[in-house]
Amino acid sequence: MTNPSPWRATVLTLFPEMFPGPLGVSLAGRALASGLWQIEARDIRASATDRHRSVDDTPAGGGPGMVLRADVLAAAIDAAGIGPERPRLLMSPRGRPLTQARVVELARGPGPLIVCGRFEGVDQRVIDARGLEEVSIGDYVLSGGEIAAMALIDACVRLLPGVMGKEASGTEESFSDGLLEYPQYTRPQLFEGVPIPAILTSGDHAKVAAWRRAESEALTAARRPDLWEKAANRGSGQKTPKNKTDG
Ligand code: SAM
Repeated sequence: MTNPSPWRATVLTLFPEMFPGPLGVSLAGRALASGLWQIEARDIRASATDRHRSVDDTPAGGGPGMVLRADVLAAAIDAAGIGPERPRLLMSPRGRPLTQARVVELARGPGPLIVCGRFEGVDQRVIDARGLEEVSIGDYVLSGGEIAAMALIDACVRLLPGVMGKEASGTEESFSDGLLEYPQYTRPQLFEGVPIPAILTSGDHAKVAAWRRAESEALTAARRPDLWEKAANRGSGQKTPKNKTDG
């Protein structure tokens, strides 16, 4: 049976030709081709009304760069015809940092509208008037929101039912229980004189699980003390990691 309304990303951008881009290949691309999700990239400039089709203007109060106009962006959002059930996101370095927990929520819903900023950003009035949720993909500044939107969409799409094989369900990945993932190994058994840790080839599933858990805890404590503290407070990890891994 085919899904009557697959997960859908509606992207508002000044560069619709950037989509699907990398989302059109590999896992996400195959899922797109088979109808497990949909993407619509809409040109913000189509909502410009003046004869120069301008979308931006100089910042009120002065300063460098240009700002996306509230009236043009609001018209573009309204023209997209998004129902109230769909989240409205604005990719923004000022936003709340994207987490796997938020990705899971977004993947479970009908799919978001995503506004991609450019220039110095977006007039605050349209953010407020259209209830845009600002989302950041990290503490650095990109030149536009498109690559950030692609990162968010990719993270959601791989969680949609039927996209990943059952051998890669995502349940043991980094962040799935607040910890970073344990180290992975595969053949050859010996690489440049270094063997696969013997426990992983012992066939003892309980010992493998315990080793992986200890490695996850040690990595998280060494590399992400912020996550480690949260995990320890939730009881997901010990106060001190059981194992030491080189961070
Ligand atoms: N002047 C803005 C500031 O300092 O916050 C930066 C604007 S940036 C050059 C242009 C656009 O890129 C932003 O409006 C946003 O859509 C996108 N962008 C840049 N960095 C981002 C990030 N870390 N996460 C999400 N979107 C980002």
